[in-house]
Formats: sequence, structure tokens, C-alpha cells
Amino acid sequence: MKNGYRHLIIDADDTLWENNVYFERAFQQFAALLNHSALSNREVRRHLDDIEHVNRVRHGYGARQFGRNMQECFQQLCERPCTEVDLEAVMDIALDIMAQPLVLIDGVQQTLAYLQPRYHLTLFTKGDPFEQHNKVRVSGLADFFEEVVVVKEKNEATYHGLLERRGARGDESWMVGNSPKSDINPSLAIGMNAAYIPHPRNWHLEEEPLIPGKGKLLELGSFTELRKHF
Ligand SMILES: [Mg+2]
Repeated sequence: MKNGYRHLIIDADDTLWENNVYFERAFQQFAALLNHSALSNREVRRHLDDIEHVNRVRHGYGARQFGRNMQECFQQLCERPCTEVDLEAVMDIALDIMAQPLVLIDGVQQTLAYLQPRYHLTLFTKGDPFEQHNKVRVSGLADFFEEVVVVKEKNEATYHGLLERRGARGDESWMVGNSPKSDINPSLAIGMNAAYIPHPRNWHLEEEPLIPGKGKLLELGSFTELRKHF
């Protein structure tokens, strides 16, 4: 341990492994299937965004939920009568995301091996518990973490809950992740420190301006740069 910090809370999707790129690819397949005569892919995407925005409050995240959102979008935009076969094809596109190989981001394993004896490491991710725990298992990274916590949404309330659960104070803890909305802003807001590692293919609904808080904010170019600071 350096600097009096004890806890590193680490995001998973697009921080430890690639994730959003598979959702983007699924959307391209969806748009090709819909094959709308007037709307561009960008316009179809905006329509799907609106549906996701409403549904994520109630249903959360994950491939299966993404499939339900695309089905709803398909039903609304399809220019011919929409059939069960269409809806199944849409869900298959989404479920195929779960069948993709898990690709670790460069240097993640070595960096976690360096950090693990020095800090209490917690993996903190949002989404479908089954999908997220399965990814952790397949990643081979589970043993680096004292605990894996999956929540429906990462917000100030769930960060408070996490610190309590881990017996950690905000000022001795860092959140590490790629999402301003889910990782950086809520943790800074409750007095934690945050290390922001932008991902070039981040999910656009996770983008928002960084809002400084009481804690320190680091912006890093890669996961491996954590070694320079911790
Ligand atoms: Mg993430």
C-alpha cells in the first residue's frame, strides 16, 4: 500500500475486457435486418437509444435486455407486419453477444497481479448478474478480487452501499473505470477518488462531462498506467 489508500474498486466491461464493441456490432446486424427504406442507421440508433433510456430504469442492462429493446424498436419501425420469426431473429442477434470470446484489455492481468498484494481489490459492475458473473469466471481474473459485486445501476446510492459492505472510507478508496456516468461522477460525488481510463469505443449513453468532487481525479491512457500511481 502506498499513499494511505486501501481499496481499489474496479469496473469490468470496457475496463478489464472488451464489451461495447460487441453491442455495436449487434446493432449493425439489427439495422441490416430492419433494412429501413427511409431511416439512416444513425436515426434507427437514436430511436433505439430512446427505448433503452426508458427501459434501463426498470430492467437494467445486459445482452438479453438489449435484445428486448431491439425487439421493441423492430416492432415500432418495421415497415411490414412484424412476425415471431423476426422477433426471434432480433433476440438471436443479442444473445450472440454472450457467445463472443472474452478479450482482455492489454496488460490487465499483469497489472492486477501487481495491485493485488498491495490493495483490497473489488470488482464492481452493473448488469445482469448471471451474465456478469459468467464473464468474470471466463475471464480468469476472479482470483484477483476479494469480492465481485453486480448491481442494477451504479449511482451514488449503490456506491455508498458498496463502501459500507467493504468496510471502506471514501477517501481511502479509488474507483477505476471507463464510464463518466457510471464509474467516475457518482464515486467522486460521494467523496471517493477516481481513475478514469477512457475507452475509444465507449457506449455513447455512458458519456457525460466529468464533474469534479472532493476526491482526486486521475485520467489515464491505459489500464497498465495504474502501476505508475499505485
Ligand atoms: Mg465499463
